This record gives sequence, C-alpha cells and structure tokens, in this order.
Amino acid sequence: MIADLQKLFSLQEADIQIRSLEQELARIPETLSQAREQRALAKGQMEEVKKALEEERGEQRRVESNLNDAETLLTHLEANSSQVKSNEAYTAMLVEIEAAKEKISVSETQILEGMESLEATASRLEEASRFSADTDARVAAEEEDIAKREEELQGEVERQQDIRAKRHALVPPEALRIYDRIAARKLPALASVVGKLCGKCHAVLPAQLAVEAREGKSIVSCRGCKRILVPDEVMKKSEE
Ligand SMILES: [Zn+2]
Repeated sequence: MIADLQKLFSLQEADIQIRSLEQELARIPETLSQAREQRALAKGQMEEVKKALEEERGEQRRVESNLNDAETLLTHLEANSSQVKSNEAYTAMLVEIEAAKEKISVSETQILEGMESLEATASRLEEASRFSADTDARVAAEEEDIAKREEELQGEVERQQDIRAKRHALVPPEALRIYDRIAARKLPALASVVGKLCGKCHAVLPAQLAVEAREGKSIVSCRGCKRILVPDEVMKKSEE
C-alpha cells in the first residue's frame, strides 16, 4: 500500500505541475492586454499633443491674418490721409489709424507668444512620439516573449500530461477514485500525518486513524479537510 501511495503522490506531483502551468497560461491574455493598453495609451497621448499643435498652428494663422488685415488697413488709411477734407473726417481717420496700429501691436505680441507656445508644443510632441515609439518597441518585444513562453508552457503541459497518464495507469482504481474526487476540488489532495495531526489542516485525528495513516496500509481520509493522509516518507519519495 505504501508503494501505491507513493504512486499517488507522483501522480499528484504531475497534477500540481499541470495546474501551475495552466494557471500561468491563463494569465497570458491579461498580461498581453495590459501591455497593449500601454501601447494604446502612449499613442493616444501623442495624438492629443499632435491635435493641440494643429490647433495652435490654426490659431497662429488666424492671428497672422488679423495682422495682415490691420496692416493693409493702415496702409490704406495713411495713403488716403491727404485727401481728407474736413477736420471731423481727419479726426475720425486718426482714430481709425490708432485703432489699426493698436491691433497690429496686439497681433504682433500674440504672434510672438504663439511662436513660443508652438515651440514648446512641438517639443512635447517630439517627446510623446519618442515615448510612443519606445513603448511600441517594448510591447512588441514583450509580445514576442509572451508568445515564446506560451509555446513553452503548452509543450510542458503536454509533456506533463503524458507523465500524468503513465502515473495514472499505475495507481489502483479505488485509490484513484478517492484521489480524483479530492483533487478536483483541492490540490494537494494528499496530506502527511504529523503525530496526531493532519499536516495540511492541522485537525487532530482520532488515535486509531492516526496510527492507520502513519502505517500507510490503507486509504485514510482526514476528518477535517478530507485529504488522503499518508505517512511522511511517502511525501518525500517520487519516481519519474
Ligand atoms: Zn486535514
């Protein structure tokens, strides 16, 4: 029976391996989507700055056009100043000239400020573009690593499943039936007996049960966690 329990322990080792590989496989989509999110985020930030730059350029063109209009108006007013007949008309024209000059001055200031702002935004765009390109490259490398790891894991799962099938065939059906039922809900399904205690849930075992479990002559289940109780030495030995 000890030998059977050891076979059961070997089977469990394969099951634990498979479980852990499958858990790692299951985490892959989340890891991938997180990496891709970062790529999308960096790209989105870059697009935003690009849009801001376009808007600033549009505003700059609008101010330049205002300046042009004011300059044209001023030229026109000054060219016609000699033809003004009355004092009132002359005074009115001076007011118009002053207004045009003021508009030119305001526009020139706006253009200077706009140029500074454009320069800053262009440099922000450069930075955002570089960050986006770096993120692209990093995520691409990550995707490649993940794909490689996924292939490795799938290969390893297959290998462990072969090992498991061989070990499964060696365990007596009665022990298998009990093991499979427990292993479906919890792994490990085996617990060692430590004195009178279950090594997993630390439930105190009835004296007779503890003795039987330590002898390893039959399948004994813990009253607490339902695991199969086995002598300590079973848990240490494992055959390939
Ligand atoms: Zn227990």
